Amino acid sequence: MPRCLLCHCNAHKSGLCQDCWADLCTLQRNNTQLCPRCTSSVSCATICERCQLKRHPVTALYASYCYQAPLQQLLRAFKHKGQLAILDTLAALMLARPPTWLQQGIVDGVLAMPLSRTRLFERGFNQSHMLAAQVAQQYGLPLLPMHCIQRSHRPPQSTLKSKQRHKNVRGVFQVRQDLKNRSLLIIDDVVTTGATISELAQTLKNCGVAQIYAWTLAHPK
Ligand SMILES: [Zn+2]
Ligand SMILES: [Zn+2]
Repeated sequence: MPRCLLCHCNAHKSGLCQDCWADLCTLQRNNTQLCPRCTSSVSCATICERCQLKRHPVTALYASYCYQAPLQQLLRAFKHKGQLAILDTLAALMLARPPTWLQQGIVDGVLAMPLSRTRLFERGFNQSHMLAAQVAQQYGLPLLPMHCIQRSHRPPQSTLKSKQRHKNVRGVFQVRQDLKNRSLLIIDDVVTTGATISELAQTLKNCGVAQIYAWTLAHPK
């Protein structure tokens, strides 16, 4: 009998016991749309009122859960240990709460938030790429290869304040494949200020990508 990843009781599904699964489901976000520019919650519009006047490269941004315990512990454990059992749990949680706008034909490809080669070498895998693979499979969409976008190495965003984050990611991505006129879904594990997703989206738009949507597992609030 497989054991629950969190409490070691008998696992029921996706690596968790029924209680821990229910516990994690309480982290589901009610107000599930996030403004792609400022990541504040929006009820029905995709961009908040304050940001509506400015153009933004991301059409809609969505986070499935609040980035709190025990989801935080699960994601950290996965990033440090790379256990596939945890990946399956995280992917199952994510797929249980998809964005409402993700309907047939809206996107034609799935793309994971790239890691720099240094970070990829340290960790040994890209957690977002692994989540993106499961999303792509579930929706029958092609998954863009990891090398189609290169990311330069910079200090981790988590060590910086909000204002520095935008500066830190400027010019960090290079597109290595022709993605003209594509409509892409970016998958990331956690979105905080949205600075990295915005920068990636802007780089993609500059290369002729038509539409960009983003779906993350979690957001702090
Ligand atoms: Zn449990
Ligand atoms: Zn906004």
